[in-house]
Amino acid sequence: MANTPNTSTGVEDIETSTSLTELTRCEGLWYEDGSIVLASEGVGFRVYRMLLAQNSSVFANMLAMSSPESNIDPSYDCPIVHMPDSAAQLRYLLLALHDVRATERLKRAPFMETIAVASLAAKYEIGHLLDSAVERFASMYPTSFNKWVTTRGTPVTPVLKPGQHHAALQLAHQLQMSHLVPVILLAMCYGGVRSILRSGLPPHDLEVLLLGFTKLQVMQRTHTFRWLYRPVVRCTAPASCNRRRAEMSLLMEKMFSCDKLYVFDLSLEQFSVPLSEVLCDRCVTDAFRTQKAGLESAWEDLPSVFGMETWHKLGAK
Ligand SMILES: [Zn+2]
Repeated sequence: MANTPNTSTGVEDIETSTSLTELTRCEGLWYEDGSIVLASEGVGFRVYRMLLAQNSSVFANMLAMSSPESNIDPSYDCPIVHMPDSAAQLRYLLLALHDVRATERLKRAPFMETIAVASLAAKYEIGHLLDSAVERFASMYPTSFNKWVTTRGTPVTPVLKPGQHHAALQLAHQLQMSHLVPVILLAMCYGGVRSILRSGLPPHDLEVLLLGFTKLQVMQRTHTFRWLYRPVVRCTAPASCNRRRAEMSLLMEKMFSCDKLYVFDLSLEQFSVPLSEVLCDRCVTDAFRTQKAGLESAWEDLPSVFGMETWHKLGAK
């Protein structure tokens, strides 16, 4: 941002002049009859002081204490308050605050908007926006296995980038939503090791995540595809079934040795050749039953993969 003061008499003049004259008016959040200008990163939002104070006790106290009447900006003929938040996040918060259908808006909000509104609504104690944004945020990281399977990669649970999961992790910590943390970490692991390394996590979190990734790789054999690695006692065609399981497990090992995880989302229905064509009826029944039990138990163990308490103790519903 260039400094273009009209009269340069000193550093203070420059800073004051810069802050007062260089604001870019935020489209959609510049009401001509607005009663206060919030400024952040060179962007100005001309909004209604009463609306801020009525919805947020933090804003109410802040505006009362700073007595903005004494800080009227001649350029805008109303008080100007410099905010510590990023302009992008502040814009999302103010858009939601000025939307009479904020609840509906937040039900469909994209990831960055959800994160911004939840984080700032918590900071400024704007209860109704916080509730809606938290609900939307939680829907992106379902804590039940069935919801994970059915909603992953859909508009409800978009496939997010590593940096976005990192932001989600920070928000979960800020809002003390520990029960979402295992799912956020799982989502990061699904991106593979390269993606984990690009996530920008601090060293300790990185270590937890990489160890977790390794444990999830092992769980593919011990839980999800356990049926591939052991004979079935009541099998009616042991020679043939054991041979076909050995062939399939070799193929599976090739898949497991890449930078991906299949622990929770490779269903037996997706196999190119139906199991009933290669295994006897009893082995097919065993495969489906063992995999279902393995998946459920793997999900149950998910928090422990990342060194966390059980779902129940974390407060998952
Ligand atoms: Zn068999």
